[in-house]
Amino acid sequence: MAIDIYLSEEKIQNRIQELAEKINKDYAGKELHIIGVLNGAFMFTADLVRHLNMPVTLEFMSASSYGDGTVSSGELKINLDIKSDIRDKHVLIVEDIVDTGLTLTVLRKNLMERGPASLKLASFLFKPARLEHKVEIDYLAFEIEDHFVIGYGLDYAGRYRELPYVGIFHPEKES
Ligand code: 5GP
Repeated sequence: MAIDIYLSEEKIQNRIQELAEKINKDYAGKELHIIGVLNGAFMFTADLVRHLNMPVTLEFMSASSYGDGTVSSGELKINLDIKSDIRDKHVLIVEDIVDTGLTLTVLRKNLMERGPASLKLASFLFKPARLEHKVEIDYLAFEIEDHFVIGYGLDYAGRYRELPYVGIFHPEKES
């Protein structure tokens, strides 16, 4: 078997409920506009919003970063943009994983320029060992060690996104 289970479905679902309770408290009495980042965050976004109890609007966006790895030259390539105007809205970005932090740094800057009332970040995973660009994660489900993980939205060559758990992938063991 090329996949070792790292975070079980039960552990993930319990943690998401805890995160949602915190978000419910923080945004009580407010409306929240959620931006899920495709493709990786589709499952986390879907599970998280099911536990929210404030009025929610939801869109998805797809973006990647490129450049030579420094913040100043990090460019954002938007593959799919949101359609709505987020000016004066409370916005929560929902991401799958913060690895080097480059994608989130440039995405956050792009969205800030659109004038939201507030902009926070929820990330399913965070790999501190690989961080190069400091990103403040307001709601983090799990901090993980430096493994290449798949499942629960995350892929290897386009596969395994559908798994309800997170696994460590060993491509050399794949038959
Ligand atoms: P960053 O700009 O933070 O380095 O890149 C984050 C992106 O890299 C994530 O949105 C994800 O698509 C990809 N990524 C980083 N680490 C992993 C990993 O362990 N597994 C998978 N499947 N994708 C990863």
